[in-house]
Amino acid sequence: MAHVQNFIAGRACPAITGETSPNISPADGEVLGSAPRSGRADAEAAIAAAGAAFPGWADTPAPSRGDLLLKLARVLERRAEEVSRALALEEGKVIAEARGEVQKALRYVIFAAGDGRRMNGITAPSELAGTFAFTMWRPHGVVGLITPWNFPVCIPLWKLAPALVAGNTVVLKPAPETPWTAALIGELVEEAGFPAGVVNIVHGDAEPAITIIEHPDVHAISFTGSTDVGRAIEASCGRLHKPVQCELGGKNPIIVLSDADVDMAALACAQGAFGSTGQRCTATSRAIVDRSVADAFVERILTHARGMVPGHPLHESTTMGPSVSERQMEKVLSFHAIAREGGATIPAGGARATGGGLERGFFPLPTVYDHVRADARVACEEIFGPVLSVIRVGDADEALHAANAIPFGLTASVYTRDLGRAFRFIERLDTGMTQVNAPTMGGEGHLPFGGIKATGVGPREMGPDAWKFYAESKTVYVNHGGGARTSKFY
Ligand code: NAD
Repeated sequence: MAHVQNFIAGRACPAITGETSPNISPADGEVLGSAPRSGRADAEAAIAAAGAAFPGWADTPAPSRGDLLLKLARVLERRAEEVSRALALEEGKVIAEARGEVQKALRYVIFAAGDGRRMNGITAPSELAGTFAFTMWRPHGVVGLITPWNFPVCIPLWKLAPALVAGNTVVLKPAPETPWTAALIGELVEEAGFPAGVVNIVHGDAEPAITIIEHPDVHAISFTGSTDVGRAIEASCGRLHKPVQCELGGKNPIIVLSDADVDMAALACAQGAFGSTGQRCTATSRAIVDRSVADAFVERILTHARGMVPGHPLHESTTMGPSVSERQMEKVLSFHAIAREGGATIPAGGARATGGGLERGFFPLPTVYDHVRADARVACEEIFGPVLSVIRVGDADEALHAANAIPFGLTASVYTRDLGRAFRFIERLDTGMTQVNAPTMGGEGHLPFGGIKATGVGPREMGPDAWKFYAESKTVYVNHGGGARTSKFY
């Protein structure tokens, strides 16, 4: 049992009210432990601790801050299996995927540690005699990080690492569904030797998150989660003049053109739609397929859907875990009627998985909707479950139009053997990321990650510039010539 606590000023502590929430395994309903149900006062205590730690941390040389991140990476590497198992148990991701998530987080933290030696400004010749002009970077102060449950190791770490290396102190409010992995991140931070108060973690749901967002002593917000919550956060931060970065929902297509390798495309769709139970922002939820290859494509995707093995995430033979919660599973199942009402057929899945004890957990079957209209609700709204909508189109132009005709813009992939066609899609797809002949999921830590339209506001996460969201650029003019300014520009 993991009865986790908040992590404030370097100490583990319960919620001030003493209230807790149970942590339920989505695979079998077992109670895994509990977490504090924090409120306003807990968030305020964490903000005060982060504020007190800020001057010392900001004065720590950036290369030394990077060195501590490297230590954190080493601790994570040593405890990778423990973190992976906690992640699989509380989020439901199969253990192989959980291990993959931990390795991805590890590689990114190692990369971000090096930013401590690369946070360069510019120097430029000045128009003024005897003047040296340059730019430098200053941290914001205390920053608030609010994260979802679906990548509960990667996402907190890909926000923490650039925030810390840039010299900020942090209050992290992780998702209520995944407190165990968040508490383990607190342990990693402590073991790595970060000074008390540099990282603070407050469990709970909207109340502590809203306190962090609205608090005058929190100077920037990085949020990943649903589009509705993100929209409200953007409005609050706009009102408060607070820098904000939001990474939100997705509805990512794979486009299968007439000349595509249909086997390869169907495999990528299956990986993207059913992998991680469809609970990735980069999941493939739409297959936009040229009519000339659509029957062959559907035949293959049905074979993949029926071949998935739902089960306990710690069993090595399982290929698909549960939805994260009963509420999430019910949401997924509710879309089946919506698909039928919109004129789609459901040749695979369309119900809850049963048998072999699966009914104790929250398992929707891998599902395929066929003959979906490009403007149908199931083609436009994020379902966040193991569901693929097949949209049949007449040609590449219709495919491109269908791909872009949604509010979201995270990622998209095109399958074609024609280089010219591939580049046409690369240039015209309205997404932050585009793949050619590759699945929609994933992303490498040293490259920028994020979307446009209703998926993303603010600069990209990860990649070489991620830390810039967490810092303000200052332009400096030094009059070392000693003379009074006489230029007409003054
Ligand atoms: P969510 O929006 O329900 O919750 C995210 C976080 O916000 C949680 O910590 C939650 O406690 C907090 N929160 C809830 N209500 C709030 C409020 N009113 N004000 C402030 N904070 C509040 O999202 P979720 O269900 O945890 O995550 C799934 C969503 O995240 C999906 O839409 C998915 O696409 C998205 N996501 C996006 C990316 C990306 O990079 N684009 C990555 C992963 C997940």
